[in-house]
Amino acid sequence: MDFEDCSGKIIVVSGPSGVGKNTLVNLFLEREKAQKIVSATTRAKREGEIEGDMYYFISEGEFKDKIKKGEFLEYAHIYGKQYSGILKKSVYDIIRKGGVAIRDIEVQGFMQIKDKIPKKILKSIFLLPPSEEILRQRIRERAKISDEELDARMETMNKELGYSKYYDATITTIDGDIEGTYKLFLEKINELNK
Ligand code: 5GP
Repeated sequence: MDFEDCSGKIIVVSGPSGVGKNTLVNLFLEREKAQKIVSATTRAKREGEIEGDMYYFISEGEFKDKIKKGEFLEYAHIYGKQYSGILKKSVYDIIRKGGVAIRDIEVQGFMQIKDKIPKKILKSIFLLPPSEEILRQRIRERAKISDEELDARMETMNKELGYSKYYDATITTIDGDIEGTYKLFLEKINELNK
């Protein structure tokens, strides 16, 4: 699998939990000619999640086996408990034929690929929250998570923000305005693809 010869693009989107990565990526998938990258994860399937849609749900043993075999383009150990990663094959199948592959990933994974994939192929965007307070509120509303888990996520967020400078572009999301934020997102992607 040689990424150098691929004519497609890989768009990766990062940003803190609750910033709206999924919403933007899903709108992009609905409206543009793009395909989502299906990752592998060791976390439990949540209600409503379908095998092979966003993730292939595999055991930690299988995940580690795939690491050993070099099957991952990147992977990360997230919140100190689950492993998630992009399988080389999943993305190669899309971009070798000129397709656009998109996925949200966290920063550890992005740092592994940023110098590995040619710049003409990899385009990266980091989403910044309008404020930490808004983000806290949003995560609370959305997920039934404990205060401990919320604090862990906020800590991860603060660490992650420091990595935003390594991305091709950052966007500050507009609170309560998905369409406005999407417009900024699309403009940035078009600019990066010029
Ligand atoms: P969740 O488990 O809630 O779906 O995602 C948790 C975090 O894992 C999010 O920040 C998401 O962007 C990140 N993530 C999801 N898939 C991947 C992946 O394949 N690789 C990496 N590095 N991060 C991922």
